[in-house]
Amino acid sequence: MPTGTLYTVSAPSGAGKTSLVQALVENDSQVTVSVSHTTRPMRPGEIEGINYHFVSRDEFVGMLGESAFLEHAQVFENYYGTSKAWVEETLASGRDVILEIDWQGAAQVRKQMPETVGIFILPPSQQALLERLTGRGQDEQSVIDKRMAQAIDEMSHYVETDYLIINDDFTTALKELRAIMTAERQRLARQQEVHGALLQSLLRKQ
Ligand code: GDP
Ligand code: ADP
Ligand code: 5GP
Repeated sequence: MPTGTLYTVSAPSGAGKTSLVQALVENDSQVTVSVSHTTRPMRPGEIEGINYHFVSRDEFVGMLGESAFLEHAQVFENYYGTSKAWVEETLASGRDVILEIDWQGAAQVRKQMPETVGIFILPPSQQALLERLTGRGQDEQSVIDKRMAQAIDEMSHYVETDYLIINDDFTTALKELRAIMTAERQRLARQQEVHGALLQSLLRKQ
């Protein structure tokens, strides 16, 4: 069975990556999203095991000691990490995996797995980003201020990606995200894995 493709989706907080990725996976059974571990407090409406695995600082450090993370990073005051075993098992089962992680994490993953496809999402303006962070209504003003201040730094890493999406009109951005997945699945190396028997039979002399 061909292994799945690993994608990283990075963006400043509030650019819309979670909304876009959720909308994508609802209609694509081949792709699944990794649930990160975090020490961040749970937001209203978040569910353990769905949005994140919420762990204490001590539990996170314990997992680091066991090399349980494919990558990890400190974002704002919290730690975030991706389960190595889950990613490896899911890719081996043939499904594609999306990691919604910050640029530091994306760089660590790319180093370890150079075939990873990087996608970066940017907002149409700084003002729109602020409005989305505020409009989401889930973070305190002090947290929003910190995330806005951090946004320019995160955005400056867009040059490290393979694909760039400007999330202005949501439907257009979602189409662009789907197009990236479609194009990646048609790559020659992947098609050779998926359609090996067909390609052999097409070239057989009668
Ligand atoms: P949101 O991006 O505003 O929804 O806020 P979150 O608290 O969910 O995420 C904050 C930042 O942490 C974002 O930049 C995420 O991409 C990043 N992040 C989430 N999970 C992971 C992870 O497992 N690893 C790394 N490196 N970053 C993560
Ligand atoms: P992130 O995961 O990058 O922090 P979210 O997916 O939580 O971002 O989106 C932040 C807010 O912006 C949410 O309230 C979401 O509904 C809204 N949003 C996302 N994309 C768009 C868009 N294209 N136009 C307007 N609002 C958007
Ligand atoms: P502190 O609270 O002092 O910032 O961190 C406590 C422990 O967390 C340290 O021993 C540190 O090694 C560990 N740690 C956990 N996650 C991270 C991480 O993403 N980056 C760094 N630098 N340290 C981490």
